[in-house]
Amino acid sequence: MSYFICPVCKKQLIREEHSCKCENNHCFDISRKGFVNLLRSQKASHGDDKIMVNARKNFLNKGYYLPLLNELNNHIDSVATDNCTVLDCGCGECWYTANIYEHLKENNINSDFFGIDVSKEAIFSGAGRNKALKLAVGTVFDIPMADKSCDIVLSLFAPFSRDEYIRLLKKNGFFITAFPMENHLWELKSAVYDLPYKNEVADMEIEDFELVNKSVVHKEIKICTNEDIMSLFSMTPYYYKTSRADKEKLETLDSLKTQIHFCVATYRKII
Ligand SMILES: [Zn+2]
Repeated sequence: MSYFICPVCKKQLIREEHSCKCENNHCFDISRKGFVNLLRSQKASHGDDKIMVNARKNFLNKGYYLPLLNELNNHIDSVATDNCTVLDCGCGECWYTANIYEHLKENNINSDFFGIDVSKEAIFSGAGRNKALKLAVGTVFDIPMADKSCDIVLSLFAPFSRDEYIRLLKKNGFFITAFPMENHLWELKSAVYDLPYKNEVADMEIEDFELVNKSVVHKEIKICTNEDIMSLFSMTPYYYKTSRADKEKLETLDSLKTQIHFCVATYRKII
C-alpha cells in the first residue's frame, strides 16, 4: 500500500504509528484523527474556514447533491479496477471522497483512496468520515504524491491543476471532474439578484487528455430549511461578492425549489 511523499525532499514517507518519516528523517506527525499535515507554509490561513466547512458538511450530509454523487459513481464504475489508487484532489470535508470509496467497496472494488485539501479545517472534518481514507493537508499545486502513482484523479469544485494531474496519473489514467452548467442554482440566484445571469460553461478541452465520457445531471431539488438555503449559498462563489442587502433577501425564505445542473466528465491521459 502506498502513502504520501515528503513535501521537502520528495522521498517516500513511511507510515509509523503516530508519525511518518522519509529516509532523510523529515518527520510529520499523524494526528489523532489519522491525517497528516504536509503543507510547507503554515504561516497564512488557507482554504475554507470552519464556518464554510460546517456549512458545506451540513448541506451535503442531507443528500441534496445525491444525483451528482450517483452520476460520479457511474463514471467511476466505468474506469475503476480492483486495487486502484484514487486521489480526490481538493477533497474538502470528504463527502464525495468517502461516499465514492464506499460505493467502490460495495461493488467489491478495493481502492487505495487518498484525499488532499489545503484547508486543515476541512481535512479535520473529513478525517472522521472513514478511517480507510488517507488524508493530508496540502496544496493541489504541489501534491505530496509520487509521479505516476494514481489510476484515477478526481477534482470536484477544487482549483484546476492540470500539470499535477499529468504528473500523478499512470499511463492511460483517468481524470474525473464536475462543473456547473448554465442553469445551476438559477432559482437561488433569482431569489438574491434583480438581474441574475446564467453560468458560463467551462471549455471542455484539456491538453494531453481525451474526453471519454460526458453526462449531464439536471434536476430540481427542494431545499427544506432556511439553514440549508444559507449553507448552499455560502458554498457558492457568489457568497463573497453579494451585498448584505441582497443576502438578507435569502434570510426570509423557509424553503426553495431550485435547479441543479452539472456536467460530469471523464478524461483519459494520452501522453
Ligand atoms: Zn524528506
